[in-house]
Amino acid sequence: MPLIGKNSVESVELSQEQEQLISEAKKIYNLNFNGDVWLGRCIFLSWYCALGNCDFCFRSTQKHKIHFPETARRTKESIYAEAFIAKTLKWKLEFLTGGYGIYSFKDLVEITKTCREILNEKIWLNLGVLSEPQLKEFLPYIEGVVASVETLEPILHKKVAPGKPLLPFEKMLDQAKALGLKRSMTIVLGLGETIDDYKYVNEWIKKHELSRITYYALRPVKDTPYEHGPAPEYVIEWIAKTRIDFPKIEIIIGSAETRIPEINFLLSAGANAFTKIPATKIFGTEGAQQIHEQVKLAGRKFTSELVKLPKVNWAQEVSSIITDENLKNKIILKLEDYQKNRLLKAYKDFKKVDSSNSADSCDSCDD
Ligand code: SF4
Repeated sequence: MPLIGKNSVESVELSQEQEQLISEAKKIYNLNFNGDVWLGRCIFLSWYCALGNCDFCFRSTQKHKIHFPETARRTKESIYAEAFIAKTLKWKLEFLTGGYGIYSFKDLVEITKTCREILNEKIWLNLGVLSEPQLKEFLPYIEGVVASVETLEPILHKKVAPGKPLLPFEKMLDQAKALGLKRSMTIVLGLGETIDDYKYVNEWIKKHELSRITYYALRPVKDTPYEHGPAPEYVIEWIAKTRIDFPKIEIIIGSAETRIPEINFLLSAGANAFTKIPATKIFGTEGAQQIHEQVKLAGRKFTSELVKLPKVNWAQEVSSIITDENLKNKIILKLEDYQKNRLLKAYKDFKKVDSSNSADSCDSCDD
């Protein structure tokens, strides 16, 4: 597999065979989808993972373990505020996820139910291996479950994710199927697998009748064994092969702020959506505009918003869903903070606009 420095993409150079592959994949995509592209957003329930031994993950590093002790968890108001932001900006929730072993099961069900209400649609869960009784508890609120297998090459899998054997995931997918839930998996590209290992992914999609797959371009993390992300041409091949073999599957691709020039090629190869873009950090900036451009270059329509903040009355939005006064007020405060110090700050830092200009784009901004 060709490697490039760190995880940045300056340009994409396709061979003739790769161009043919993309062209075939594009035709198949066009026959089966309407061209919409969205930003997928994962909502993290915690920044800590009790498993913490996947060798590529920042949660496996000592620094992270010291910084985020086992008791660290994200507050509910922060989780719900992010769900309100995602809904407002049409960032589709890819799944609720988080480190293993942080919230109690009862809390997980309550959070899932509330996120489902905020987003006004059933959601996906990526919370590790769930048992059949647990799936049943989640059933009214979820559309599907995700097996975060990371890689399916058997030897590599044991090294990369020693705490996540494949068999329990397979069992969960079978149980999810029996309950009528959709199924998905996540694969990280750049862990040392090769394109020949696509055959394992192909087998799993068929075996478990997956309706969605997320591919992540590895983001190398300091103090892990990895120093490079995968070359874009390699990621493109995985997407195109998947699209050609599975015309109707939903393909989400985890790119990065440093890989924006690859996005139009990933979409042309048949991806439906992209994720892993630090949306609040780049909101309203040149990077966000480049992403909108990339979608246009691929001849597709971006249905999410990364540039303009619509007018929104947070108090009204939150009150329509959350009844607990204390929680409601905390969420509103979070949202106002989020808007002022993250979304609008990024926008202003880029545009160097004064606060009177920025107030035009947002009702509740008191900046
Ligand atoms: S289970 Fe997920 S969060 Fe935990 S170490 Fe592995 S990849 Fe990281």
